[in-house]
Amino acid sequence: MSEAEAAGERRSGGCLCGSVRYETSWPPLLTGVCHCRHCQKQAGTAFSVLVAVPFAALERSGDLTVYEDGSESGNPVMRKFCGKCGSPVFSETPDGMAQGMIFIKAGTLDNPDELEPTVHFWTQSKQNWVTIPQGAVLLEKQ
Ligand SMILES: [Zn+2]
Ligand SMILES: [Zn+2]
Repeated sequence: MSEAEAAGERRSGGCLCGSVRYETSWPPLLTGVCHCRHCQKQAGTAFSVLVAVPFAALERSGDLTVYEDGSESGNPVMRKFCGKCGSPVFSETPDGMAQGMIFIKAGTLDNPDELEPTVHFWTQSKQNWVTIPQGAVLLEKQ
């Protein structure tokens, strides 16, 4: 357990309209950027920024709508969003859940200034204009 966890550090976030709210332990297990076409479509933009956190350390409230996505890798992704305002908030994968891990769409954090993405997924479908900072780990696929 890290010092931050021992200190019980928490961060909060929610969807655009505020119907969905959550609180999570901090820092995240991983901060990554996903350039897959599915994330581009779902977010309506160039990529998703995701933080992986322990599911057990996440508290959430509000109604989530679920879209069961096939994903480019063929593994199912449960994409959970606010049915009222449409903000994508959580993604759950069977592999992640087996490890007790859930992904939060990092743009929904109340303070996204602390984010430091270290891994870029699905760079093979990265949009041409996007430049990835030096030093990041690049994965062509998942
Ligand atoms: Zn909402
Ligand atoms: Zn993706």
